[in-house]
Amino acid sequence: MTVLVINCGSSSVKFQLVDADPGHATGAGASALKGQIEQIGTRVPDHAAALDQIAQTVKAHLARTNGQLSAIGHRVVHGGTQYRDPAIINAQVIDAIDRLAVLAPLHNPANNDGIKAALRSFPGVPQVAVFDTAFHATIPEAHRRYAVPEKWEREYQVRRYGFHGTSHQFVSRRCAQWLEANRAIDPTVSRIVVLHLGNGASACAVLGGASIDTSMGLTPLPGLVMGTRSGDIDPAVFGHLNRVAGMSVEAVETALNRESGMVGMCADADMRAVESRIQAGDAQAEAAMAVYIHRIRSVIGAYAIGLGGIDAVAFTAGIGENSAYVRARVTHGLEWMGMAIDDQRNAEATLGPLGVSEISTDASAAALLVIPTNEELEIATQALSTLS
Ligand code: ADP
Repeated sequence: MTVLVINCGSSSVKFQLVDADPGHATGAGASALKGQIEQIGTRVPDHAAALDQIAQTVKAHLARTNGQLSAIGHRVVHGGTQYRDPAIINAQVIDAIDRLAVLAPLHNPANNDGIKAALRSFPGVPQVAVFDTAFHATIPEAHRRYAVPEKWEREYQVRRYGFHGTSHQFVSRRCAQWLEANRAIDPTVSRIVVLHLGNGASACAVLGGASIDTSMGLTPLPGLVMGTRSGDIDPAVFGHLNRVAGMSVEAVETALNRESGMVGMCADADMRAVESRIQAGDAQAEAAMAVYIHRIRSVIGAYAIGLGGIDAVAFTAGIGENSAYVRARVTHGLEWMGMAIDDQRNAEATLGPLGVSEISTDASAAALLVIPTNEELEIATQALSTLS
């Protein structure tokens, strides 16, 4: 069945036609057509105009191939506490996504613009919202709660939500299948750490298929060091910078989102560039990398406690899938906790059955794996399952 997956960002729209089944996302998820429209607000007037262009491209493709659209799946960033599962789009769901925009002011309005435009362009095709936060709905209270006045959570929804849910769900499910097939580990008890390392980065602890902790929070800012985002900092930095530098809340927030992380520390957000600078002996790039790696290792340590041990660490997204260098540094010297990387397997990282590549030694108690994420396939699969 063919599903159109739409991911509306604040200034871009990505789309992909995915062949999927309503069951588990186990197939290769062959993609017939994909593309991206950028510079919305400047080159393209708005999301509706972008969706019009996409609708034309998709309809022409379907006419040429005699294809038919079974569903449209929309990536929606924030589902708040309300959405633990995908939702078939109707007027109430659109209203709820609007209300939740206080929690994701850049993303939810763009997501809704895309939904409304798609309803106009594809009347009669069922549409489903798949939330980036939903997979983390299972995180227990002690792991999601902030130690702040209780009223902040009750009245202002201040708590950990977590993001990258479709990626963590997709990768952890493949990882659990691999552990069952290769290590006879029952998927209802498997203990997995997923490291989604892209421009945005987050970690997730998955116990028996359910997220029990994740590094992002109320927003996608905290946790790991990212391309341009700081990850964890002392929240008192807001008051401090206001007093010593006269910076407003908005200015600090913008700097933490856009001018921090790797780009803040060493002026390069692209990990390939950072790595080649390190090879050339650049001390600034090395210092930034050391922070990046330290933060990931700290999270692995914390999740080992939360999970009661680790059966597998799965690396995914741009950096996790492609950087043998980062994978080696993250796992270096962790033999004492049962993790041993195989340098040759890590360098080659060839995908086996299930789309999984094992990069640990045969003696490693925990499996170290590279598992390419496929958020579009996950969204398509969840959209079909929700409809059927
Ligand atoms: P996004 O969060 O935008 O989806 P991606 O998952 O595509 O990001 O990851 C982008 C990151 O992956 C960039 O920092 C890029 O430098 C990094 N990357 C891609 N290929 C490699 C590689 N071969 N080695 C190191 N880093 C890589």
